[in-house]
Amino acid sequence: MFKKILVANRGEIACRVFRTAKAMGIPTVAVYSDADRDALHVMMADESVYIGPSPSVESYLVIEKIIDACKASGADAVHPGYGFLSENKKFCQALGSAGISFIGPGVKAIDSMGDKITSKAIAIKAGVNVVPGYDGIVQNSDEAVEVAKGIGFPVMLKASAGGGGKGMRVAWNEKECIEGFERATSEALSSFGDGRIFVEKYIKDPRHIEIQIMADGFGNIVYLGERECSIQRRHQKVIEEAPSPFLTEAVRKKMGEQSVLLAKAVDYQSAGTVEFIVDSDMNFYFLEMNTRLQVEHPVTEAVTGFDLVELMIRVAAGEKLPLSQGDIRLQGWAIEARVYAEDPFLNFMPSMGRLGRYISPQGEGVRVDTGITEGGEVSRFYDPMISKLIAYGSDRNEAIERMIDALDAYYIRGVQHNISFLSALVAHPRFSSGEFTTNFINDEYPNGFNPGLVFQDDPAICVVAATVIHKKHNDRGAMISGQLSGHEYVPLEELVVIMDNGVTAHQVTVEYSNQTYSVTLDDTVYCIATDWHIGEALFKAKINGRTICLQVDEVGRALHLFHRGAKKEALVVSPRVAELSCHMLTKEPPDMSKHLLSPMPGLLIKLTVKVGDIVKIGQELAIVEAMKMENSLHAISEGVVKKTPANVGDILAVGQLIIEFK
Ligand code: ADP
Repeated sequence: MFKKILVANRGEIACRVFRTAKAMGIPTVAVYSDADRDALHVMMADESVYIGPSPSVESYLVIEKIIDACKASGADAVHPGYGFLSENKKFCQALGSAGISFIGPGVKAIDSMGDKITSKAIAIKAGVNVVPGYDGIVQNSDEAVEVAKGIGFPVMLKASAGGGGKGMRVAWNEKECIEGFERATSEALSSFGDGRIFVEKYIKDPRHIEIQIMADGFGNIVYLGERECSIQRRHQKVIEEAPSPFLTEAVRKKMGEQSVLLAKAVDYQSAGTVEFIVDSDMNFYFLEMNTRLQVEHPVTEAVTGFDLVELMIRVAAGEKLPLSQGDIRLQGWAIEARVYAEDPFLNFMPSMGRLGRYISPQGEGVRVDTGITEGGEVSRFYDPMISKLIAYGSDRNEAIERMIDALDAYYIRGVQHNISFLSALVAHPRFSSGEFTTNFINDEYPNGFNPGLVFQDDPAICVVAATVIHKKHNDRGAMISGQLSGHEYVPLEELVVIMDNGVTAHQVTVEYSNQTYSVTLDDTVYCIATDWHIGEALFKAKINGRTICLQVDEVGRALHLFHRGAKKEALVVSPRVAELSCHMLTKEPPDMSKHLLSPMPGLLIKLTVKVGDIVKIGQELAIVEAMKMENSLHAISEGVVKKTPANVGDILAVGQLIIEFK
């Protein structure tokens, strides 16, 4: 076995690998950049080596620095995690020359599977079903149109070097094909330094289903079932689950066996994933093979009971796979949600900052893989993922229930996050039905996500909880001696709960006896048992027998309550104050309709209009690049351009003015 393992990565995946290495009794080494000095992965490792400035091209992506870190620390093996150098054959070769083991596949597999065009050719030869299309590189947009016509629209334009949903565009006609070719090429060049594009048939309404394989150095290869990854936004996975609610045992077996054939064809060793798209008739087509541990590997671990990182370490150290195909049984159901620092209500704009408060959920069947703790920073240099939340249950319904409850109890402050969106997704009736495709998010949220689309639970829950919280405050206040008259302890109180700045108002009575609060609202009596203390972020209670968890922020006199992804504001007052409050003036918000503001921090790479231009609805106005994705901003009404204060090349802050209209 290895003497010491260095993880050439950061964040949650570095922590994930350290956890298993520790359990196996293997000493660990972290590497870190300036931005990661105080990161969790550095704290978790037995020792750590500084590898340079924050931008990953100057630290995590520099092969020599990782090799030097191995030499300095005496590490004899490297786990690359995912991303960064995990699928870089030069890295693999450099480690080999330095006599350090790579915990992953061999150079041949990485090299051939790293390129979509090459891997497709190998897959065809190995007898794997592939997406029909053109297997050459298209040189320009005219050729792209030519090829697309041959295949038949719609088509998918894809960067051969692509990954993470970048450098990919769907085209339904010639015009989209020309635009798509240009956008995909420029995205591919800026993300991968390789602008080669190919064209394949766009499979309508597919599912994305992938097979986990594991192979040792003795020719033993097994598949560990599938993961359903159809819930995607911009071709990037948001929710994954195992098993798939769609596959039959027979198709699972066929996909597994073809994946093993492909792995054999490239002498695969270690963990790998063969990605397929599956159409509504259960025809499946190979997309690509990822020669590394996937982000979503925990759902496979949950349903198979195997620790994939441990298996990777063992086979890399020369051990035989300790399992054969017959040992693999899928048991129960697991769902993973990717928790991101982004604002789902502002077009998923990435959010950066410090996690002022952070409480992650716990409980039976709940796993949180994270690389960050309270006080830690989501920095602009890296992927804005906060964690992966995994819920496991004996069946799909139980897994969904546990996921919904865990999201309720996930308290994150300091950065914007996507918990509301994740809650809405997993509570969506179409998600629970299991009948969805990769278009799920586009179909259900065609105009993006907004507060009106969050999951709607019984509105009484927040009213009742706010009443109890208020009563707790009143009762504590009454315990302090010398209260003014009117503020003494009263067992039964009449109150008014004003929700969302007066959208609704509810008359309630509340009484405390026998460790239980009784709240009467609209002739219904709610019995609430809770051991919540003033100041606690999570209000856990049983309301008429139902267990709930609400997040509470006390902001001045108001309560901000978060439940099922919805935010409610409650103000609890006496009936007299409620009566007077309707005479208060409200402040009008300023008119911002004549301004195009940057919806995200990013680089202004194109300004399509100039002063005096008349713009039409839907016309492109500017392109902002953020997290290496090009975001095109369009006019939502007609207008005349008055000023363009931002220039191409400017780094824009959120809300920075790009264009002002007359
Ligand atoms: P990446 O390497 O960037 O992740 P993939 O080839 O794995 O790209 O594709 C990512 C997603 O894009 C798939 O899960 C699927 O939703 C969609 N996709 C890719 N190719 C096609 C296609 N030919 N037809 C329909 N959807 C596709």
